[in-house]
Amino acid sequence: MGIGSRYQTVLEDVASQARFCGRAPEDVCLVAVSKTVGLEGVASALEAGAKDFGENRPDQLVEKASAFPSARWHFIGNIQSRRIPDIVSAAFLIHSLYQESHALKIDEAARALGKVQDVLIEVNVSGEESKSGVSPHEALAFARLCAGLENVRVRGLMTMAPQGDAETARACFEGLRDLANAIRAALPAEKAAVFSELSMGMSEDWHEAISSGATIVRIGRAIFSDNFEDEDTAC
Ligand SMILES: *Cc1c(COP(=O)(O)O)cnc(C)c1O
Repeated sequence: MGIGSRYQTVLEDVASQARFCGRAPEDVCLVAVSKTVGLEGVASALEAGAKDFGENRPDQLVEKASAFPSARWHFIGNIQSRRIPDIVSAAFLIHSLYQESHALKIDEAARALGKVQDVLIEVNVSGEESKSGVSPHEALAFARLCAGLENVRVRGLMTMAPQGDAETARACFEGLRDLANAIRAALPAEKAAVFSELSMGMSEDWHEAISSGATIVRIGRAIFSDNFEDEDTAC
């Protein structure tokens, strides 16, 4: 199977998992994480109907977004301060915001470009040291701070589950969902109305993410790797 048919298979599987959980397929956005492939790989997924792509490096984000401007480009990687103008110039949605200084710079860069930048706040739900993000108890204060910036629109939360079993992933995703509900209840109505996205779930754990309320799943290897299934059984 090539990239195009794997994309279509994943898209169908995502839709059936949504239906299985009593949700509408269109309520879950599939972001194809193309960080391991070049422009040709992106082109194959685009031809198969992909509209949303995720990148974790600013250079790749900018290059691919300018080659394929009709797609929506999501930035899912570590934010470096000096790359913020580039990221803002190309990103439809930034998933990985968790530092105040970055929020201020994103606001400034977006204002300079005459845009309002959609962002998600990354939360370290599991508390693992290797993971980035604000801690759950800091998330509301940080969301309030970001929501106060004129050229930033806070659309929701993002997390990465610890590697391991499905139950651990599910607990992490349910934690993010509950936190998002609490934040939404505490924000002013106008900010709460757009705070609707939960970006969670990757190749290994997107089934659990959808059943826990994910509105965006970020899937890389299951689409772009020739041997994702083999990798899976090898461990
Ligand atoms: C690479 C990456 C993904 C995709 O992971 P896969 O396991 O390849 O599906 C999702 N989210 C983030 C933040 C990533 O860096």
